[in-house]
Amino acid sequence: MAVNQESLSQFSRSEGWLGTPSRFVFQSTVTSTHDVLRDLAEHGAPEGTVVLAESQTAGRGRLGRRWVTPPGNALLLSVLFRPPEPFLTYAPRLLMLCGLALREAVAAVTGMLPALKWPNDLIVEHGEQWRKLAGILAEIGVVAGEAPFLMVGVGLNVAIPAVQLPLVSPAATSLLVELGRPVDRAALLGAFLQRLEGSYERLCAGWNPLPEWRAALAWMGREVMVKAPSGDVCGVATDVLDDGTLVLQTANGVAHFPVGDVSLRI
Ligand code: ATP
Repeated sequence: MAVNQESLSQFSRSEGWLGTPSRFVFQSTVTSTHDVLRDLAEHGAPEGTVVLAESQTAGRGRLGRRWVTPPGNALLLSVLFRPPEPFLTYAPRLLMLCGLALREAVAAVTGMLPALKWPNDLIVEHGEQWRKLAGILAEIGVVAGEAPFLMVGVGLNVAIPAVQLPLVSPAATSLLVELGRPVDRAALLGAFLQRLEGSYERLCAGWNPLPEWRAALAWMGREVMVKAPSGDVCGVATDVLDDGTLVLQTANGVAHFPVGDVSLRI
């Protein structure tokens, strides 16, 4: 099923501050939305600046992996935050609330509630099988003499047809394929930015998203495998900590995996 998606070039948010017209940059093709946003951030762009693109020539995931999407079929955006101090407390919480906001936006617009896959993917589960619907990637930037900034990038597969999914990734899915009908990208974008703005304001007012994030994670209490550079580790996922660290009960005791160079599998 192929779908002609509406263009997002005319998207405009009239309320709030995050992604409103003076803080919204649309470019049809970019290397990556993070690259464009980093340049803006280094030149003083305000918090809440959003860069959105229809296509990326060098989209990236974690650990130097590629993020691939056929042009016009996804939501590809990066959002700039200048979180309060201490940065190391707020940065992981910010990543958690982005995952929650994206999940809730998908649910509000489509009626389908995806799960979060630690640390920051949105997945759809079919029994023991899972498919990746979205990825979230955070990157930090620093300008000499200033507090660090955090960019959160989202790639949400909206209208990628079934025939194109294997070209993207063997484990990818899209809203079109899951629901069997097109979904309005502008509605998804608006719902996401609205939730992101509201939950970021709550975060700055002292809210800790950890309990909600933990409750939304797939595979808690289940046997999982962590693929780490030093080798694979199997165990039961028992908890996550305030900084996002995954806790596993293994045959050799408790193991901690900070968000970093590891991947999680069921
Ligand atoms: P993994 O998904 O292997 O646990 P990860 O969550 O750390 O790793 P990410 O950085 O989120 O991975 O995403 C990169 C990986 O996602 C790529 O290696 C590729 O397998 C897959 N991928 C790339 N583009 C897409 C896409 N549009 N939709 C779903 N999956 C994708």
